[in-house]
Amino acid sequence: MKRYSAFAVAREALRFHSGWERAWRSPAPKKKYDVIIIGAGGHGLATAYYLGRNFGIRNVAVIEKGWLGGGNTGRNTTIIRSNYLQDPSAAIYEKARGLYENLSQDLNYNIMFSPRGVMMLAQTQHEVRGYQRTAHANALQGVTTEFIGPQKVKELCPIMNIDGPRYPVLGALWQPRGGTARHDAVAWGYARACSDMGMDIIQKCEVTGVRQSGGKVVGVDTTKGAIDCDKLGVVVAGHSGVLADMAGFRLPIESVALQALVSEPIKPCMDVVVMANTVHGYMSQSDKGEMVIGGGADGYNNYTQRGSFHHVEETVRALVETFPIISRLKMLRWWGGIVDMTGDRSPILSKTPLENCFINCGWGTGGFKAIPGSGWGMAELMAKGHSPLTEGFSLDRFKEGRFIDESVAAGVAH
Ligand SMILES: Cc1cc2nc3c(=O)[nH]c(=O)nc-3n(C[C@H](O)[C@H](O)[C@H](O)COP(=O)(O)OP(=O)(O)OC[C@H]3O[C@@H](n4cnc5c(N)ncnc54)[C@H](O)[C@@H]3O)c2cc1C
Repeated sequence: MKRYSAFAVAREALRFHSGWERAWRSPAPKKKYDVIIIGAGGHGLATAYYLGRNFGIRNVAVIEKGWLGGGNTGRNTTIIRSNYLQDPSAAIYEKARGLYENLSQDLNYNIMFSPRGVMMLAQTQHEVRGYQRTAHANALQGVTTEFIGPQKVKELCPIMNIDGPRYPVLGALWQPRGGTARHDAVAWGYARACSDMGMDIIQKCEVTGVRQSGGKVVGVDTTKGAIDCDKLGVVVAGHSGVLADMAGFRLPIESVALQALVSEPIKPCMDVVVMANTVHGYMSQSDKGEMVIGGGADGYNNYTQRGSFHHVEETVRALVETFPIISRLKMLRWWGGIVDMTGDRSPILSKTPLENCFINCGWGTGGFKAIPGSGWGMAELMAKGHSPLTEGFSLDRFKEGRFIDESVAAGVAH
């Protein structure tokens, strides 16, 4: 693979961009792989990448029923932060945030990581206490966050009305190195690096069955034929229950549509990310100038990758008190993704009852931020059978009552 560089851009400009290579190959599937990953979202691709990079396992296929990054990875609002409460969460999200810092260099692909700072508003006394507690927990975990007062909030985000009639801003949990990245570039960057290591990314190929023998996984059935493997990683977000059913076990997961919307582009007016849990909405400004606004999840289980009018209305109504300037904005488009929710709002990275079959799911409304850390831990789990990053997130915790309760950190979709 030819490296991307300023020199390469100049060279290609001179020859009318005729020399760029395809970013990744589109091979036909082989008969057998050491590892098959189902799902070419960020988590599946990152798992494949770190299997190759950290463990030298490169006879790997990533199988995707649509196009890579076409699931939640290409549909989210790209917020990256690691200000969670519990130790296992802080460890995996902070690992991910740290890897994001240098991911463009690591992958030789510009993922446009922008550590512009993320604030979670406290608009009730209950939230003030909750976020002060999280700031203390983060200090012990080595995660840099701070509880800031309303004046500092206003200084960081002047377009905000901190004296709102119903919910004045009482402070915020501020993570200065949180931010955003370009979501599809994360998927594309990992895909290109995987392809460069000789891995096969097979798109438009749906897994329709999981084959097993003697309690062990031996391969998958797909719309492009049967493919054998020694190990299988199921990384399919909102379809995890469907794949688990094929493999013969059940998951404590609910799938629901989560929605987001963007406005028409306007001049730069906001260079931080703001989340408002009480009124339920969050907002940042994209490089194009659009206000990227996150809404809520549907209140019932479904597999709909669509937006709906009532969510647009509810979300904008919620945010307009705190951000009066958006009342005059036109909303351009809205959409949905199918997210996979666990009861404790923490993910599952685990072995399964089927030997050599591993599962990575349950990231719910907030898994984009975790992609590099999740891939790192999942690759270690699949290669070595255990990983300190994934230990707390095993399926057993639901039987044993070892919940990792992150309902506050994940209280608003993000
Ligand atoms: C509107 C919205 C906003 C969000 N905002 C944020 C945010 O700001 N910050 C944040 O951290 N997170 C956010 N998230 C959550 C985040 O997007 C997800 O947690 C994350 O992208 C999940 O990645 P994934 O790789 O697990 O899943 P996906 O990207 O969904 O990838 C799974 C892939 O599996 C494929 N697949 C499914 N079934 C099969 C099959 N049978 N055979 C082959 N392939 C199959 C799918 O086609 C899909 O491409 C948001 C999500 C949504 C929907």
